[in-house]
Amino acid sequence: MVKLAKVDSVSITSNIEKQFEEVSSAFLHESKLVDQFRRHKRKLRISLTDRCNFKCSYCMPDHPTWLAKHDILSFEELYKFCEVMVKLGITQIRLTGGEPLMRKGVVNFINTLNELRPLGLQRISLTTNAYYLEKYAVELKQAGLDDLNISLDSINPDTFFNMTQKPLEPVLKGIHAAKDVNIPIKLNCVLVYGQNDKEILSLTDWAYQNGFELRFIEYMPLDQPEHWKREKVVIEDEIINVLSSQYSIYKLERSNDPATIYMLNQHFKLGIISTISKPFCQSCDRLRLTATGELFTCLFANSGTSVRPLLENDKEKDLINTILETVWHKKAGYVAYQAAPVRKITMHSIGG
Ligand code: SF4
Repeated sequence: MVKLAKVDSVSITSNIEKQFEEVSSAFLHESKLVDQFRRHKRKLRISLTDRCNFKCSYCMPDHPTWLAKHDILSFEELYKFCEVMVKLGITQIRLTGGEPLMRKGVVNFINTLNELRPLGLQRISLTTNAYYLEKYAVELKQAGLDDLNISLDSINPDTFFNMTQKPLEPVLKGIHAAKDVNIPIKLNCVLVYGQNDKEILSLTDWAYQNGFELRFIEYMPLDQPEHWKREKVVIEDEIINVLSSQYSIYKLERSNDPATIYMLNQHFKLGIISTISKPFCQSCDRLRLTATGELFTCLFANSGTSVRPLLENDKEKDLINTILETVWHKKAGYVAYQAAPVRKITMHSIGG
């Protein structure tokens, strides 16, 4: 059970006003995005679209209804939001989806985001299923993308197809195209009992031989309501158990990375994101924006705060106040939401 110390003695309102004054004046690189548990936010994940050409069962409802174009934030609004967030202390922006490469203009948007580097932005990242990556790899590199997270749930074509409803081959081509232009890559695999739980070793062997950093992710209740079951989760300890039959394993000290990092055979880095069995919320430094402009402070939050009207009307001071107040009220994390009513947002809308 995660226990976090709440800051009781500080008045939220005066704190927010004070933070706003500080933001306006100086210290642009220091994070003003702090919650009631003193966790500073450095990472922002932006869902560019809810659309995806895959149909991963742990992510997508059976019958998704896609957002209309006019429902999603324009790139101008997104840039405005990013600019404010970087001024408030965000140093890393990750673009997600749905599948972000399905949104026209994504490369140009990445190009534009580079203008925020002098304000403190350090990394621009993208999470993709890699299906269209072969086409975009060179352009993404030229646009200044710093790194890629690629979903790869199996290296077996049949399992891959069963989990995504798409062939594996274009994905592998996309991965190698990104490698050829030297974009750093992390592979992400969500393990689900009965689907790919028998492929821990084969996927690790493949990543090991091809020199790709791999991360296993515990299956989270972010899919269609009623789909997720605790017994379908392959937990960190089980993964380590399987891997230890083939590899020597050394656990590294925990950092702010959501993954626990292990060294295999003393040189191969493998991460495990264990939200279910070992939540790491006490160090959470992430915020999320949906394609419709809702700011979520946690993957498991039941609702977000809409910032779209403030972006449309260019009300920067109100926008900053709203952001700071929303962040301040961030709950402890996964544990705090377990007793909450059924979620209203699935992974494909919040970007994982
Ligand atoms: S569950 Fe929420 S608070 Fe915990 S690490 Fe994930 S996003 Fe952060």
